[in-house]
Amino acid sequence: MKNSALLTLAAFTGLVSLSATAGASEPQWQKDKSYQLTILHTNDNHGRFWSNRHGEYGMAARKTLIDSIRAEVAAAGGQLLLLSGGDINTGVPESDLQDAEPDFKGMGMIGYDAMAIGNHEFDNELAVIRKQQSWVDFPFLAANIYDEKSGKRLFKPYQIFTKGDLRIAVMGLTTDDTKKLGNPEFMGNIAFTKPVDEAKALVPELQEKADVIIATTHMGHYQDAAFGINAPGDVTLARSVAGIDMIIGGHSQDPVCADAQGQMITKYKAGMACMPDTQNGTLIMQAHEWGKYVGRADLEFKNGELNLVSYQLIPVNLKKKVKNAEGKKVRVLIGDEIAEDAKLKAFLTPYQEQGQEQLQQKIGSVDGKLEGDRGVVRFQPTNMGHLIALAQMEKVGADLAVMNSGGIRDSIAEGEITYKDVLKVQPFANIVSFVELDGKELWDYLSVVASKPIDSGAFAQFAGVDLTITNGELKTASVNGQAIDAGKTYRMAINSYIASGGDKYPALNTHSGYVNSGFVDAEVLKDYIQNNSPLSASAHDKGNVIRN
Ligand SMILES: [Zn+2]
Repeated sequence: MKNSALLTLAAFTGLVSLSATAGASEPQWQKDKSYQLTILHTNDNHGRFWSNRHGEYGMAARKTLIDSIRAEVAAAGGQLLLLSGGDINTGVPESDLQDAEPDFKGMGMIGYDAMAIGNHEFDNELAVIRKQQSWVDFPFLAANIYDEKSGKRLFKPYQIFTKGDLRIAVMGLTTDDTKKLGNPEFMGNIAFTKPVDEAKALVPELQEKADVIIATTHMGHYQDAAFGINAPGDVTLARSVAGIDMIIGGHSQDPVCADAQGQMITKYKAGMACMPDTQNGTLIMQAHEWGKYVGRADLEFKNGELNLVSYQLIPVNLKKKVKNAEGKKVRVLIGDEIAEDAKLKAFLTPYQEQGQEQLQQKIGSVDGKLEGDRGVVRFQPTNMGHLIALAQMEKVGADLAVMNSGGIRDSIAEGEITYKDVLKVQPFANIVSFVELDGKELWDYLSVVASKPIDSGAFAQFAGVDLTITNGELKTASVNGQAIDAGKTYRMAINSYIASGGDKYPALNTHSGYVNSGFVDAEVLKDYIQNNSPLSASAHDKGNVIRN
């Protein structure tokens, strides 16, 4: 017994060391030689392959910028990697309706080396993700996503790039909130393990195989690791796992910027200087969202050490409003103008046209008018107000929802409904969010929003809650037929605009129970209409609010 156990153990360790030797290449870098390495990064593309109506961002201009940096780095004898922090999918109908084909193929043409998988990649079923992988020749990386049945990883955990004498490992990690945030239908047999555990297990292996270790993640940057009820993000990862040189992040959609003293800048504006957040010797970077910036880190590798030489967030044709000579507000470029790459622009144009055409197709129908006229929706509860709030509530599994009537910009007439109709109602692309509040917090919040005056955009619409409001004062409130209980926790859906204090609502986006689902409001409404048509206009009449 004892002997055979020993033998097995010996055979096992023998096997491990053998395979480790076989898999590991030897360091190629030369003593005292300095190597230049440039890492470029973007994250949270969210369907923004095309520039916006002010000519900001867009993949064609991004390509021009990246091509020029590539040429500069190559001329100086340096090496370059281009990485994405994930969430390529979801956010712009023209992209969503085509499974983000222009976005992925555009990334291929720009020459991305690898991407992290974001939670929004799972807004589609796995077969769509596999199709998206087939469109490009760079890897989708995730060390912590498994097939529950086979116990096998669904994606490559890491890739090792040989760049001149340097071996660079890039591992992918995805927020383990993905299952909580996304569509359960698409994630039945998929398990998301804890990124920190996977990284702890992988880093020693990567240290044998590579000179530089980068994590490209989609976990969010939460300052000082204050992640609230979100899953832990990049700061926790850096503090928990030694040996990661850089984290290229995404998900929280921040420009992650520290000042020269290392203090995080909370109100970063394009054009300001920006340094990565440094935690436990790990550089953490994130380039806001949508390709608004390309993050550029220039590093020096020497004698096994990697040091940051310079860092910048380069704005991609971002503009600011200034007053011109006549006192009129006009938009002017913040940085240098970046021309659009003609070849990529020509490639993307048919997708943009096709997407716009698809917006005209029928998505559902309604048997009466859904009331969103400004003169009505800002004065009384309406079926449109209730419908929008209900769609958001159901999307994030909330108990109730609050919607500001100022965010409702049009009605929908009886009959067929198109995506374009929905975009007229909700044109702002606010993000559906939720917050978990105790009963007292919820009562206090509802008291404030119930008191918002008529004829203002702040006038509130509700779903999932019965209210009595007398002269603007909240008298009764119940959820699921039960009066609000101070000791219970409630989940309330709201949009990102009011969450951040818009329409003078109490700000909740810094509450520890706040979660940004990442879903655009118009898409949430479109999905609800698609799944519930034909809609009954009267079923949504007024919701359950009594005002007297
Ligand atoms: Zn995300």
